[in-house]
Amino acid sequence: MPHRLFNFSAGPAVLPEAVLEEARENLLSLGDSGVGIMEHSHRGKAFTEVYEETVSACRELANIPENYKILFLQGGASSQFYFAPMNFLPDERTADYHVTGTWSQKAIKEAKILGNAHTASSSEDKNFNYIPKSYDYSDNPVYVHMTSNNTIFGTQYQSLPEIPENSFLISDNSSDIFSKPIDVTKYGLIYAGAQKNLGPSGVTLVIIRDDLIQKGSKKLPSMLQYRTHADKGSMFNTPPTFGIYIMGLVLKWIHSEGGLSAMDKKNKQKAGILYNYLEQSKLFNATAEKEDASLMNVTFVTGNEELDKKFIQCTEANGFSGIKGHRSVGGMRASIYNAFPEAGIEALVKLMKQFESDHQ
Ligand SMILES: *Cc1c(COP(=O)(O)O)cnc(C)c1O
Repeated sequence: MPHRLFNFSAGPAVLPEAVLEEARENLLSLGDSGVGIMEHSHRGKAFTEVYEETVSACRELANIPENYKILFLQGGASSQFYFAPMNFLPDERTADYHVTGTWSQKAIKEAKILGNAHTASSSEDKNFNYIPKSYDYSDNPVYVHMTSNNTIFGTQYQSLPEIPENSFLISDNSSDIFSKPIDVTKYGLIYAGAQKNLGPSGVTLVIIRDDLIQKGSKKLPSMLQYRTHADKGSMFNTPPTFGIYIMGLVLKWIHSEGGLSAMDKKNKQKAGILYNYLEQSKLFNATAEKEDASLMNVTFVTGNEELDKKFIQCTEANGFSGIKGHRSVGGMRASIYNAFPEAGIEALVKLMKQFESDHQ
């Protein structure tokens, strides 16, 4: 086993070691097929099995009803920022956005290129350190878009916002998908880039309701219509086969760990260790409002940029990777997705305590 650091990277991020080991076994030959996982035709029997197993693992894990399709697309979550309005936002309607961070800002920017987009709520007034509790919806929006977890600012919705009648909910769940139980029936469309909680970069999971697929615009290039990918089971063109394979292994790993409720319990326990320490620390402070603080991305500062820098150097010297905060917030960010081990959080808190006592 090569030496592995505690990797707090926000994405691409840590994957379960059992998954990486199984993948390694199958790089040269998938099972006894004699052909490596990346070398199989996407239309062959071996990959078809991989694809079907990933779809059913996903459906089972999140209890996804039959009237939702599970798609594996490319172009990242960022492509869904324009996919959604292209398919669903007609000229005469409005789309409403909850703007809770950089990713939702990017999402509404794309929608505004394509049509009428309205900010239903925003937490920009406090540098996105909270989740707005009141909304100002437009008249009859076609959909409402939200970002479930704000990877950069470390906030997370604790419950879904109410939405107006006759609209449907679109959610960018890139950084907390399958970190806790989810009621898919509350959504019209869920999307998530895989590289935070599901696998490698290059594949985006899309969960979409059948009636919306049918309603989508037909005046788009085929590749930009959800119906194309839904009709062809994500095989209209060559899908990201390796990513789909790894995602399948990750989903099965979550299942073997006890499923989404077990993930939730573990994530609360893990984040709790760090937040409890932050609450009583005299040096480090969490940046997100307590009630909206993310279980996936814990953001914190010392309040002194030089000291932040020194602490980041200290983590790097002590076997931790990826703890530097996003450039738009500064400070530190510990991304502790499903696969991040509790031991790494305990080790980080130990180092923080040491650093605190050295800098009183
Ligand atoms: C990382 C991230 C994105 C961007 O994903 P790409 O796959 O790089 O396009 C979008 N939204 C959220 C919430 C993210 O965390």
